[in-house]
Amino acid sequence: MKKIVLFVFCGVTFSLHAAPWATTRPKLVVVIVIDQFRADYISRFQKQFSKDGFMGLINSGAYFPYGEYDVLQSMTGPGHATILTGAYPYQMGIPLNEWYDQKTQDTAYCVSDPDTKLVGGTSKHPGSSSPKNLLGTTVGDEMKNADGIGKVVTLSLKDRAAILLGGHRADLAFWIGGDKRWVTSSYYRKDGKLPTWLAQHNQSMVGACDGEKPCGIEITAAAFNAALEGEHLGQSAKGTDILAVSFSSHDIAGHHFGPNAEEMRVMTLAEDRAIAQMRARIRAKVSLKDVLFILTGDHGVAPKPEYLAPTGIASGRVSEENLVKEMNELLTKKYGPAKKQSWVADVLDFNFFINEQNVRDAKLDLRQIENEMKDYLRKNPAFAHVVTRGDYEAHQLPPGVFERRVQRTFYPGRSGHVIALLKPFYINDAKNEANHMTAYTYDRMVPIVFSGFGIKNGLFAEKAEVVDIAPTLAFLLGVLPPALSEGRVLSSALK
Ligand SMILES: [Zn+2]
Repeated sequence: MKKIVLFVFCGVTFSLHAAPWATTRPKLVVVIVIDQFRADYISRFQKQFSKDGFMGLINSGAYFPYGEYDVLQSMTGPGHATILTGAYPYQMGIPLNEWYDQKTQDTAYCVSDPDTKLVGGTSKHPGSSSPKNLLGTTVGDEMKNADGIGKVVTLSLKDRAAILLGGHRADLAFWIGGDKRWVTSSYYRKDGKLPTWLAQHNQSMVGACDGEKPCGIEITAAAFNAALEGEHLGQSAKGTDILAVSFSSHDIAGHHFGPNAEEMRVMTLAEDRAIAQMRARIRAKVSLKDVLFILTGDHGVAPKPEYLAPTGIASGRVSEENLVKEMNELLTKKYGPAKKQSWVADVLDFNFFINEQNVRDAKLDLRQIENEMKDYLRKNPAFAHVVTRGDYEAHQLPPGVFERRVQRTFYPGRSGHVIALLKPFYINDAKNEANHMTAYTYDRMVPIVFSGFGIKNGLFAEKAEVVDIAPTLAFLLGVLPPALSEGRVLSSALK
């Protein structure tokens, strides 16, 4: 008898102090990524923002101005792959946009997949794109792994942005194809056809802009609205839908004009208007109290060296192609000509790739060649450090934050055999006027805003990392964080 009383007592006690988790969930999660959206863009232009664009998100949200990527190199593929996996490249496998593939002896793109076909457009290249190179899962994947309810739809002008936000189980990721129409891959559409609403939307785009700059923002927002309505997102009584969009035009303009140009104010104000319009369209379908918004960037950008030249801040441009040429001359002089291609076969964002077949054929030591390249690159005053794959394997890394960032970024086989790390404000001497590829604040700091469902309003000066977004979102959805997630739940932002 006593036992029963105790049991009942315990039961009552438990229910009084219970803290149920995620008993209510948002109907819709909207993830907005702005490509090359450096941490200071909001504060620079906020006086000119409308009421319901960026400020609409911030005024009903938790705003972390200093969102950090703790990586060695900041760029689109790795950034987008981090946002909803909560994992750094050493785990999720996307350290760069492109790398050198030893099997094909050619450059490989982070989302290219020769086993897929382009749907809805024509392509010059065989195959299309898929998330096959991405390891682990996204929040959308975990939501589907939990109960399979809820749709995941992602879009961007760039395929890598849409695909890497979606993960492996997205219902649809779509992007702009070569003929300026929205396309997808047979990975998402086994029947080889676009959804009817997207095919119709493409028809409505005839004569629309060429997909560049503010016009690119408008067509992205229009496609976002078409997906919202076409897929009836946020309107299911059963589960949460995720709609993720990345605005690529900001990056295209930023590379062309540099972050200090008037054009970047114009771009940011156009994004502000687009967000206000998107929120109005959502509000017409779903109550905003049932919507969770997340806003962030995939990376930032460095000022143009020409902008900094008169200021006394050291800066400059370095030609990675010239470095490859010089290192190949050096290696050829010592070892004779390489059997295929050249000794240093490729360079991508100062990741230098050796053709390993040549090294095996010539019975040379790969580590020795790496070290010879390192010795050569270290003489160049533009570099802060040079790291080889041998250094990574032997745990002989540069000091302080560099060591941690190499460990969080390096993915053997996809990162270069030798990586030269630029000094602050140095960029590559490629076609871009401005660029991003370092681990300095201007490249790796972006805003993080959570807004709406389950979120407290406030400005948070504390440290927040982009890898915190995925576990925080998973917590609000009552699902597991993605498999490789290494961030924390931003609990100070939760109601
Ligand atoms: Zn870029």
